[in-house]
Amino acid sequence: MSDTGVSVASDLVEFETRAIHVGQEPDEATGAITTPIYQTSTFVQEAVGVHKGYDYARVANPTRTALQECLASLEGAAHGHAFSSGLGASTTLMHLLHPGDRVVSVNDVYGGIYRMFTQVYEPKGYEFTFLSAEEVSTGLAEHLDERVKLVWLESPTNPLLNVVDIRAAAEAAHAAGALVVVDNTFATPYLQQPLALGADLVLHSTTKYLGGHSDVVGGFVATNDDALSENLAFLQKSLGAVPGPFDSWLVLRGLKTLAVRMDRHCRNAAVVAEHFDRHPKVERALYPGLPNHPGHELAARQMRHFGGMVSLLVGSEKEAIATVARTKVWKLAESLGGVESLIEQPARMTHASTAEAPFAVPGNLIRLSVGIEAAEDLVEDLEQALR
Ligand SMILES: *Cc1c(COP(=O)(O)O)cnc(C)c1O
Repeated sequence: MSDTGVSVASDLVEFETRAIHVGQEPDEATGAITTPIYQTSTFVQEAVGVHKGYDYARVANPTRTALQECLASLEGAAHGHAFSSGLGASTTLMHLLHPGDRVVSVNDVYGGIYRMFTQVYEPKGYEFTFLSAEEVSTGLAEHLDERVKLVWLESPTNPLLNVVDIRAAAEAAHAAGALVVVDNTFATPYLQQPLALGADLVLHSTTKYLGGHSDVVGGFVATNDDALSENLAFLQKSLGAVPGPFDSWLVLRGLKTLAVRMDRHCRNAAVVAEHFDRHPKVERALYPGLPNHPGHELAARQMRHFGGMVSLLVGSEKEAIATVARTKVWKLAESLGGVESLIEQPARMTHASTAEAPFAVPGNLIRLSVGIEAAEDLVEDLEQALR
């Protein structure tokens, strides 16, 4: 239901303004400036089938509609559909496919997506091919045939922060008749707009930067394709992985400050990456903003800034595990994208599901979600933890 009259003509105003106003006219009944949390499961009808556009809250809820309109606008999309989680959104997307179909995916994909592909869908007869970011960017066509229905991209990837050439991959996929979805969770629409680069669908875990405060779990899919959107609306109501009104409201509130938060996340991440890339206890920092990163030039072309995620390769797995337990400002936790800085060891935490894969995450890798605290405090705390 993202098409019910966008309130601020989205091509007339800038990103930051749309984040605060699209889909969020003051409440007609009371003038409340903030979109109300419509905590209701059903809507009264005047006569059978005569209502104000809402009949049952799994199908549509006004708070969710506001979120869908706003976030679709930020992705430059005509349509948006909100879900109960990023994986709820992914499950729903997978229902566009059928057993026997093949999916080609970038290999350092989010651990939960990898688990879903290999442990839920592969046993049902779906097939998956995993390629490196480099292969996806430069040689995707060789891996496609008429059975490939979907190309699944993530950029920058998690947790190795490889960069995928979205435009090149989309061209190859479309030539072979496959749809392209980009998981834009790490970049957010503020830093990267996959639909403008040729993707058919863009997916989010709104749990991360979009919510932004580590207080909600949610997911989202946007598209410019009318038929795909209609299908997604059907799947959204038929499968039922929908967000509640309060969760929708939290994400909608997060969006209002997305641009200012991302600017600060990116600035702090650059400080941390540069400082620790030259640190004696660190083999290498992985950050697309560093000129020595293999995806640096591509990221500079494809993104506004380089994002808030940084990974560090330290001397050994033992050192990685000891370091993440010694920080005080950086909290040891899974997830990312909140205002507070988080630190973790993916091999045993977020990416334990890829442990058996040929592209398992190295044990000596530490992943940092750089928050918006003072950069000096973040550097000093990590310094003491590495000592
Ligand atoms: C967290 C995450 C997901 C899964 O989202 P949930 O909201 O946890 O279900 C998918 N992709 C990426 C890149 C993520 O970081």
